[in-house]
Amino acid sequence: MIRTDLKGLSAAEMEVWAVDHGLGTYRGRQIRHWALTRFVKSFDEMSNLPKTLRTLLKEKAHIFPLREIKAVQSEDGTRKYLHQLQDGHTIETVLIPERDHLTLCISSQVGCAMNCSFCATGKQGLVRNLTPGEIIEQVILAKRSLEYPDRLTNIVLMGMGEPLANYDAVIKALRNLIEPDGMNFSHRKVTLSTCGLVPEIERLARDITVNLAVSLNGADDETRSRLMPINRKYPLDQLIQACKSFPLPNRRMITFEYILIKDTNDRDRDAHNLCWLLSGLRAKINLIPLNADPESLMMPPSMDRIFHFQKILTDRHFTAIIRKSKGRDILAACGQLKGAFESKFC
Ligand code: SAH
Repeated sequence: MIRTDLKGLSAAEMEVWAVDHGLGTYRGRQIRHWALTRFVKSFDEMSNLPKTLRTLLKEKAHIFPLREIKAVQSEDGTRKYLHQLQDGHTIETVLIPERDHLTLCISSQVGCAMNCSFCATGKQGLVRNLTPGEIIEQVILAKRSLEYPDRLTNIVLMGMGEPLANYDAVIKALRNLIEPDGMNFSHRKVTLSTCGLVPEIERLARDITVNLAVSLNGADDETRSRLMPINRKYPLDQLIQACKSFPLPNRRMITFEYILIKDTNDRDRDAHNLCWLLSGLRAKINLIPLNADPESLMMPPSMDRIFHFQKILTDRHFTAIIRKSKGRDILAACGQLKGAFESKFC
């Protein structure tokens, strides 16, 4: 018998589940509150539920879809978790300390089908989509591991996988994250990062309000298609048009991520193309020096080159921030810990 993963249910679905099991709708709300906000480890901890209901829950439902199998802490405080799913597959979650809060980077798929040439996850191919419950549970486990769970205020979908390729599950998870009777994250502090699936960007704009980040990495079609095969399907003019149409609440911007790779996309003309491409957009550019995979020939540019690239953008009045790669010593770039773990342990 398949047990229902309650963390993935919407408020309405949770009430239906309760009624289907002979309970009142308020029981559904109570269970949802426990599942999403109390970080319990077992149904027995749901102390205001009758024992018979806890027994029913154990038989018919589950809310613990992940098991932490490894947690490593970097010198800079970045913490990386490797979680095992019930079918044995593993995913990564990264907790990043910022000045006054914590950001959690969560995964949306096991592996990824997008095959970007710089990305370790892409090499693993797509294994499967995560369920809404598995996406949410990454946040719950991180909160549970913290002395002050409220410090975790920001969520980015920048871990393994392409969130918009797992659209329905991601939307359900995001709703449970931001709804006031769910986990109550501010939608201003939740960011979905995509490689640029144009129809889904348009859909996202209609379905939910969260921040959008786009992994750009190339400012002309030839360079971008070489790094990111998805660009052949949705070239830059379509992607930029979708970004221009994306509704932005007051003073919000779209973040464009640009991994800098030596002699590939770090030339002056790339910076100039980038300015041209993003002109007229409310854009913030994150420059990310490539986190080099030991098996790849691609390298990050020198810091001088990176500052020079940044200056071209800031001279044209773009906000361009160099994102220091955190957690290098614990292999925190997308998919790297999983790769290292499996080569050692599997
Ligand atoms: N599929 C989504 C989300 C996953 S990748 C997307 O493409 O946006 C999210 C981020 O991982 C990328 O934008 C990039 O910032 C980072 N990343 C992946 N591989 C990297 C590498 N080798 N070096 C530095 N950053 C990397």
